[in-house]
Amino acid sequence: MGDLAQDYPGFRGTLLRNESMSRHTSLKVGGPADLYAIPADLDDLKLLVKQLDQAGLPRMVIGGGYNLLVRDGGIRGAVMSLECINQRELLNGGKVKAWAGAENLQVVRFAQQHGLGGIGFISGIPGTIGGAVRMNAGAYGNGLLDRMTRLTLLRSGQMVVLPREQIHYGYRYLELLPGDSILAVELQLTPVDPVVTEEEIRKDLELRRTKHNVGYPSAGSFFKNPPDQAAWKLIDSAGMRGFQVGDAQMAELHSNFMINRGTATAADCIALAAKVKQAVLAATGVVLEEEVRIVGEEL
Ligand SMILES: Cc1cc2nc3c(=O)[nH]c(=O)nc-3n(C[C@H](O)[C@H](O)[C@H](O)COP(=O)(O)OP(=O)(O)OC[C@H]3O[C@@H](n4cnc5c(N)ncnc54)[C@H](O)[C@@H]3O)c2cc1C
Repeated sequence: MGDLAQDYPGFRGTLLRNESMSRHTSLKVGGPADLYAIPADLDDLKLLVKQLDQAGLPRMVIGGGYNLLVRDGGIRGAVMSLECINQRELLNGGKVKAWAGAENLQVVRFAQQHGLGGIGFISGIPGTIGGAVRMNAGAYGNGLLDRMTRLTLLRSGQMVVLPREQIHYGYRYLELLPGDSILAVELQLTPVDPVVTEEEIRKDLELRRTKHNVGYPSAGSFFKNPPDQAAWKLIDSAGMRGFQVGDAQMAELHSNFMINRGTATAADCIALAAKVKQAVLAATGVVLEEEVRIVGEEL
């Protein structure tokens, strides 16, 4: 195993070898990433991507790890966290540019400070703007990308800025090319009294405190809602609320939240998801699709 500083000359951020992904995902399962990197800034990220690509090593970006299930064998290649690339900028015409590593609530607060709003619905969605853009995160019938005017990507080592018209997205979906990293999004906001935004944030956090407080590590809703249906209702009709494989369980409080009751492995989580899908198909004829992204290798 070579010396990391020698392998990545000039890199100024943090590099960790064999870093357990259970430390970086909200479900708290998953094996090690060969390399876990936190670039110090955008130039550092570009340098690292170049070095990884030249070495032929696979790479992926992680946000807060709130929608990610890493298999027990871990991740070959590099996982890159953009947590240091987190600026918020006020643009002309009521727009805000948020960089990938910013947390959702930080962006809502930044907009609020400038009398702008319209994205209060992401206040309580845990994670980063990069993750929220990738997933088109949303709540109460809103999706973040409905506010997007432009998207900045690192694509084939180059920064590219795409206008909204060139971007295909939908419910929990954004079309990207393999290897694309989301760097920043520009959002068209609307003038909103900061007091009104404060109330919106308070209500959202309060609602989530009561509805989502499952008491154990989780990745939020495990399955997407099929068109015009609620995944949790389908899971309930199939009698799977509270169903358990090892220490992985469909939460009693919210049947679409998978929780880790302590010692669950990724294999338990994946086996549980398969059982739920089977039961829902048999009971309702509906095929559930995972919202949580499953990555990495089996043991
Ligand atoms: C308690 C709880 C409640 C939740 N409630 C909601 C909700 O109401 N609505 C909702 O939509 N979601 C919800 N979620 C899910 C999760 O919070 C969102 O999907 C969130 O947007 C994930 O952001 P993240 O930064 O954690 O992304 P991660 O989980 O780290 O990553 C998600 C995916 O995006 C990719 N990715 C991340 N950043 C980048 C980047 N910069 N460039 C390219 N790819 C990237 C990752 O590789 C991965 O495939 C909830 C989760 C929890 C635990």
